[in-house]
Amino acid sequence: MKAGEARLQSGGTLYVVATPIGNLGDISQRALEVLATVQGIAAEDTRRTRRLLQHFGISGKLWSHFEHNEQACMAQVLTHLAAGEDIALVSDAGTPLISDPGYALVRAARAQGYRVVPIPGPNAALCALSAAGLPSDRFLFLGFPPRTGEKRRAWLRSIRQEPGTLIFYESGQRLSATLTDLQAILGASRPAVLARELTKRFETFLSGSLSELRNRVQAEPHQRKGEIVLLVGGHRGPSEEEEAHRVLQILARTLPHKQAVALAAEITGAKKNWLYRLALKQSSDSPG
Ligand code: SAM
Repeated sequence: MKAGEARLQSGGTLYVVATPIGNLGDISQRALEVLATVQGIAAEDTRRTRRLLQHFGISGKLWSHFEHNEQACMAQVLTHLAAGEDIALVSDAGTPLISDPGYALVRAARAQGYRVVPIPGPNAALCALSAAGLPSDRFLFLGFPPRTGEKRRAWLRSIRQEPGTLIFYESGQRLSATLTDLQAILGASRPAVLARELTKRFETFLSGSLSELRNRVQAEPHQRKGEIVLLVGGHRGPSEEEEAHRVLQILARTLPHKQAVALAAEITGAKKNWLYRLALKQSSDSPG
């Protein structure tokens, strides 16, 4: 019998419990049952979670589990699981681990053979996607963009070609700068949606092109208030490689290879040696 299997029979269960992102009515029946019956709750901020529990008439044993003392809390939770206690992990709002702490704990609990059970519920990214009106068949959740301009722009360049809808979390403070970079790197006309204060009193969805959204956010400071999910339509049309191929084909009709390659590299940003190999292949493939 493997070490993990022995523990599965005697150890406790770690429940990963999603909590509301604004509207308390979104808590699930299962979440309430689990929070009321576990022997301990590892919370990101104990005061916030205590208020939530109080609202539902639940009194529980709470530990703080925030980024800075994640190691200490993890050791504590694992000790309790080893003693056969059931523990719930919650974050301040939404689903733990999603731009929130908990990954190290879940990984350690699984590695040691404990049952880890998700109690699904609210999540700001999926909540926004479900009502934004952007393609939902394929999407990429990116969490918070890097805070500093240069890092953020390099990061955005790396996802320029992603075909799925892009989902970001962003603070009101950085929203304008991020929209400016998105517009510059992904193109001003990409469709986008700003989803703000989801499930709360001032819930707002703003749709438009990236440049329209940026102008609106700059002109109306209240659009930067509260909690924000930003969604951007994925890349449509040819990939950068396909575009370079097309440009090279046109230029090579009338120019010598060397010149066609140099111009195609300048127009498309593709690497010269890659274009050169392509040009040779094109001429060897073309009839006559
Ligand atoms: N774990 C959470 C989840 O499942 O959505 C996300 C936690 S992350 C630290 C917090 C960010 O999520 C906020 O800064 C905001 O970008 C987004 N967010 C959370 N609640 C939101 C809401 N009610 N409306 C819009 N965005 C929200």
